Amino acid sequence: MSLLRITPSVHSSVSSRLLRLSIFLLLSLPDTKGKAIWTAHLNITFQVGNQIISELGESGVFGNHSPLERVSGVVVLPEGWNQNACNPMTNFSRPERADSWLALIERGGCTFTHKINVAAEKGANGVIVYNYPGTGNRVFPMSHQGTENIVAVMIGNLKGLELLHLIQKGVYVTIIIEVGRMHMPWLSHYVISLFTFLAATVACLFLYCARRPRVPDSSTRRRRQIKADVNKAIGQLRLQVLKEGDKELDPDENNCVVCFDIYKPQDVVRILTCKHFFHKACIDPWLLAHRTCPICKCDILKT
Ligand SMILES: [Zn+2]
Ligand SMILES: [Zn+2]
Repeated sequence: MSLLRITPSVHSSVSSRLLRLSIFLLLSLPDTKGKAIWTAHLNITFQVGNQIISELGESGVFGNHSPLERVSGVVVLPEGWNQNACNPMTNFSRPERADSWLALIERGGCTFTHKINVAAEKGANGVIVYNYPGTGNRVFPMSHQGTENIVAVMIGNLKGLELLHLIQKGVYVTIIIEVGRMHMPWLSHYVISLFTFLAATVACLFLYCARRPRVPDSSTRRRRQIKADVNKAIGQLRLQVLKEGDKELDPDENNCVVCFDIYKPQDVVRILTCKHFFHKACIDPWLLAHRTCPICKCDILKT
């Protein structure tokens, strides 16, 4: 009975685990605001000596409120000691010959909306914000509500500083920002969650099957018990080795009704409680299958 009590508890623990995983999966589903992230390809061109260097890379991401448009221009820094363009009076040292220009601004000091607006008011055609020092190449889609008319992308700190140092040295840098690929971070999160859920389900089922006690049903247990009783009863029946002169050897009187053979000296016979006897090798399997004497049908478990 103790085995029987294990089954429901294993059942309930498996169920509760699956339930918890289902809730986790549901919580990890994307909400309707789940936004795609658009990468920005920055085609950077600058001249060093007589050499024109051009590099194309997926260097940034578009801001959440940026138009997804191609924009190009010469890259211009905020004037003064501060590169964050938080001061509304910030000027940009725009070259005379440039028709279109992009502001390169450091993250921090004020909101993205604020600094993008400062550059937009000064006539920038696009804004490139580079991340905090120490963040390497990490980027994320900026939130900058209220600046929907100007392209704004974020690039990594290392790329930002590289451009900053070039421009500070007087190098004329132009950039073409192009719309790259769309990423759905919530989608990959969803797929990972789904795989985790499936793997956990399979693992739980495997564990459940492995730990499930093999409880035989009542009819199986009864059959086993009868078989054991029959074996025991057979073992208690008398055996005899026939020898010359035994009356059992009279072929007119006796032969084994299981194999229809006559008895010979040295044959081992089993004598049932009804006094009928048979070859041991013949009657033992018969009794295991039928429990009764082949001649008079007496039940060996009842006598
Ligand atoms: Zn026989
Ligand atoms: Zn009999």
